Amino acid sequence: MMKLSIADLLSRVLKSEPRKEITGFLLVHRNTTQEFIRVKNLSSNCYSFFITDQDVDAIKKYASKNSAIIYAFIHSHHETTYMSINDKVNFRLSEFNWIIITLYENELKWQFYPNKQESINKEVINFILLNGL
Ligand SMILES: [Zn+2]
Repeated sequence: MMKLSIADLLSRVLKSEPRKEITGFLLVHRNTTQEFIRVKNLSSNCYSFFITDQDVDAIKKYASKNSAIIYAFIHSHHETTYMSINDKVNFRLSEFNWIIITLYENELKWQFYPNKQESINKEVINFILLNGL
């Protein structure tokens, strides 16, 4: 069976669950394969997200056990890839790069927000999302 690219996978998830914001992490393994690991969005509001420290710790453990890099935290919006006020606050406190994704006219759009401590090139992440595995 052909493997879905990360972009295809995300599109599929967004189409199947249009009401909630989707949350998860993009990992890159040593052999350059990528993996999207979803984490539960506990927010009851469909225009926000809340993830637990336990889930983040579990992702970190998984990544380190598998020699993978946590490339970015991903969450979805219903219409745009701009950060909300809450996003801006949370992003400042976050240690991760962020990617905000949305379905626009049935097509996946995304915006990469590099964390200040990181120097990952935007072109790289665009390439990864576009080309997948
Ligand atoms: Zn947001």
